[in-house]
Amino acid sequence: MSVSSNKISAWLLPLLAAAVLGTVTGGCAAKKPRRTQEGPPPVSAPAKKRDVTAPPVGILPPSESPGARPGTKAAVERPRYSDRIIRVLFSGPAKSIALDGSPVRVWKEDGTLLSESGGSLVLTAEGNRIRVGGLQAGGSLDVGSVAPFTVAGRKLPAGRVRVMNRQGKLLAVAALPLEEYVAAVLSREASPSFQPAALAALAVVVRTYAVNGAAKPRDPAFDLLNGVDDQVFDGFDRVFPQFRAAAEETRGVLLWFGDGPARANYHSTCGGRTESAADAWGRPYSYLVSVPCDDCRESPAYRWEYRMTLEEGRRVAQALGLRGRDDLRIEVVARSATGRASRIMLSSAGVTRETAAPLFRQAAGTTKVKSLLFEIERAGTGWKISGKGYGHGVGMCQWGAEGKARRGISWSGILAHYYPGSSLAGAVP
Ligand SMILES: [Zn+2]
Repeated sequence: MSVSSNKISAWLLPLLAAAVLGTVTGGCAAKKPRRTQEGPPPVSAPAKKRDVTAPPVGILPPSESPGARPGTKAAVERPRYSDRIIRVLFSGPAKSIALDGSPVRVWKEDGTLLSESGGSLVLTAEGNRIRVGGLQAGGSLDVGSVAPFTVAGRKLPAGRVRVMNRQGKLLAVAALPLEEYVAAVLSREASPSFQPAALAALAVVVRTYAVNGAAKPRDPAFDLLNGVDDQVFDGFDRVFPQFRAAAEETRGVLLWFGDGPARANYHSTCGGRTESAADAWGRPYSYLVSVPCDDCRESPAYRWEYRMTLEEGRRVAQALGLRGRDDLRIEVVARSATGRASRIMLSSAGVTRETAAPLFRQAAGTTKVKSLLFEIERAGTGWKISGKGYGHGVGMCQWGAEGKARRGISWSGILAHYYPGSSLAGAVP
């Protein structure tokens, strides 16, 4: 289970239109291939595989208290900035990928400069190779720029992107310095109106998740996905100063437990009490236990209601393996200690089927049944599902963090509340 698989940031909707850089139709004025040492480092930067071995420093205070925390900042050792690279799959599989920038350079896998152009360029999968304008390259190449550029509609900082042909489709992997990645994820996972301390607390957990992801890559070619299965990364067009400030204030700081980075799960809104990892996923972590949260009441998803029609209920039942007729019944038959549904029973025409509540939520749609903290009752021919919170409920409640920040609690105090017993490690080697 990922950090944010159940988490949707309600404030992200509607998405702002992606920034479209001025399209310079300079075409792909490909030059003769030549060796070059110019440009940013290759995507396969060696730094990424190193283990995190930094000792924890600065134990978090055991309980929160409003106001400043003298000594807390000093206790967190300022790390040396790390050049750790996070590789994020952010586009594809797709038949073609458009680039735009000035300049845009394309390198073969061996580092040979294949083309350089000052405008837009399209890469196309051709068999198991990649066509670059009028040229054909191998199955993998790097594209990049010394200035911000756009790949598949996403604005990226100066750097390189690896494009590879996988079974006739192109994938694009951005290689991002860790702190750049943190700021970009904050811009999609949090509201720009959030308090600095709430953004800083989120920066720590986003960074920790990324470092864990790099230690256990999703694929030999990339560490993380760019969607809600990992953390939302969608380019740099909305990385406002407050997101960079949050990354900068916590630069290099990780949430730590024992001798390694903690599982830094988080979610949008807990609805009054967070869930334990043991109850959510069957795996206990001493710092992912249920804690009270009285601070997320301002969340738009603190309370929600979903009217499910009979037709929709039958579709959900079908997806869960039961043929539902007009007499379909849906009941919560078991709950966790926090009151979240854990088992759902569906019955129709004398046949019953019991299923794990997360599967029911997934089948119904996680943006409709926003959490498992719900009651379900008949309403007309369908059902009324009344719930609280948004997401799996494990770890930090983002809206709760915002509420705590508004009460003057520091980012380290926020983390101490949601991850009891954890500490902060100040360096990424
Ligand atoms: Zn909460």
